[in-house]
Amino acid sequence: MQKALFLDRDGIINVDKDYVYRVEDFEFINGIFELAAAAQHQGYLIVVITNQSGIGRGLYTEEDFNHLTRWMTGEFAKRKIDIAGVYCCPFHPQEGKGIYKRDSFDRKPSPGMILRARDELDLDLANSVLIGDKLSDMEAGQVAGVGRLALISAAIVTACMQVVAVYPNLVDAREALFD
Ligand SMILES: [Mg+2]
Repeated sequence: MQKALFLDRDGIINVDKDYVYRVEDFEFINGIFELAAAAQHQGYLIVVITNQSGIGRGLYTEEDFNHLTRWMTGEFAKRKIDIAGVYCCPFHPQEGKGIYKRDSFDRKPSPGMILRARDELDLDLANSVLIGDKLSDMEAGQVAGVGRLALISAAIVTACMQVVAVYPNLVDAREALFD
């Protein structure tokens, strides 16, 4: 078993501009490469878990998402960072169209993507870290049993403070978690 660093995508890896699906709109957040490199150096597998209801809403396609993902993982690879897995949930219970309109155990705050990654990559969740920018990320990690939960937020957050560490940015998170 190996420990993992779970990263939310929008708001953690890239600036959340709502439904980003084109390379030209994908803006890496300051500090993400250094944080991922530090985690990898400490033996964490890097795994991305991302709700992508934009697919279900018909705003872009799974192929658009996959194309962007290949480019994104390539940008990490250029910096010698291996992304071990990217898990995405395209469904939305109300706004999804056609086959995409349904509840999904994968959609955060449900833990399905994390549990699937655990099984497929043989991950040790208790010794893993999850970083997200929403409480739904934290909830998914908590339900799955991820040992350390980190919320990146400039706001003062009072909910679930007992289990969640809050950092104002990725640089501070890296220093606290991986230095
Ligand atoms: Mg996010």
